[in-house]
Amino acid sequence: MRIVLLGAPGAGKGTQCKRIAGRYGLAHLSSGDILRAERAAGSELGGKARQFMDSGALVPDELIVEMMAAAINKAGRNGFVLDGFPRTVNQAVELDKYMAGDGLKIDAVLNLVIDDEMIAARMTGRRSCPKCGAVYHIENLKPKVDGICDNDGTGLIQRPDDTLEVVKKRLETYHRQTEPVVDYYRKSIAVYDINASEDVEKVSSLILEKLGAFVSSAKREP
Ligand SMILES: [Zn+2]
Repeated sequence: MRIVLLGAPGAGKGTQCKRIAGRYGLAHLSSGDILRAERAAGSELGGKARQFMDSGALVPDELIVEMMAAAINKAGRNGFVLDGFPRTVNQAVELDKYMAGDGLKIDAVLNLVIDDEMIAARMTGRRSCPKCGAVYHIENLKPKVDGICDNDGTGLIQRPDDTLEVVKKRLETYHRQTEPVVDYYRKSIAVYDINASEDVEKVSSLILEKLGAFVSSAKREP
């Protein structure tokens, strides 16, 4: 099974991808993780990506697609779930072309739907421990003592990525660049919209329900 999971930043893609991958024995291909790994390994692709990132530029579509294509190739026959990719319509088109070359296609797309205000509340409420990296939330996952890490007593901070200004910018980019990817897929592939404003467990069960129905309908086809 070859799946794409789409959704705004902060919608919970990473967690849900891990669960889908676990349930169906798929490779979880996160573009962020793969990019970091390529950079850390000092590969040719990683080196090229580093040059763009260090200068504050976006990594170009061709480079991302090349990297993800290599990961897909390695993932093997059982299939994969894509996390954070494709991020633009151009990337989606290039991915389709690449897969068509091997006689393959994306089977299903899951679209995590959640409104901007809820995402902003989730992300701007995060507090992190600068010492051990533990993450808390001022509403949903409070430390035992306000503003203090349970593990080591260090004062908690709000990471720059979690400030309202940065979250708003990321949401804006998502609406402009990535939301059109959902419409692109709707033209030719089964797209399942999932209400991602529910809690993590509920969202997982909604996803697995949809995928279960998809798998059994695929089996009935000759
Ligand atoms: Zn800590």
